[in-house]
Amino acid sequence: MPIYEYICPDCGLTFDHFWPSIQAAEGAAPPVCPACGGSQAQRIISQVAVLGELGGLTPSEQAAENAQAERLAKITPKEQIEKLRAGKKRQEGQR
Ligand SMILES: [Zn+2]
Repeated sequence: MPIYEYICPDCGLTFDHFWPSIQAAEGAAPPVCPACGGSQAQRIISQVAVLGELGGLTPSEQAAENAQAERLAKITPKEQIEKLRAGKKRQEGQR
């Protein structure tokens, strides 16, 4: 059962989505964002691309990210937020 990672352009949430098969994932519309219900989620294709984006964050952008995480914490499961933060920490550590 493949797991793909998506990012929601509306609220910035990254989330994992389980698909029953690779064929289903390739043919289907993106999953609905669990935080805001947006339907424009983009699949995160490569880890390298994500790292490049995060590496370009300015302090003010980082502050906005943190504020957004705080906001998301009110509407998304705590476990999901922890996972998101852990993922970012890991990526920062690789740079
Ligand atoms: Zn969203």
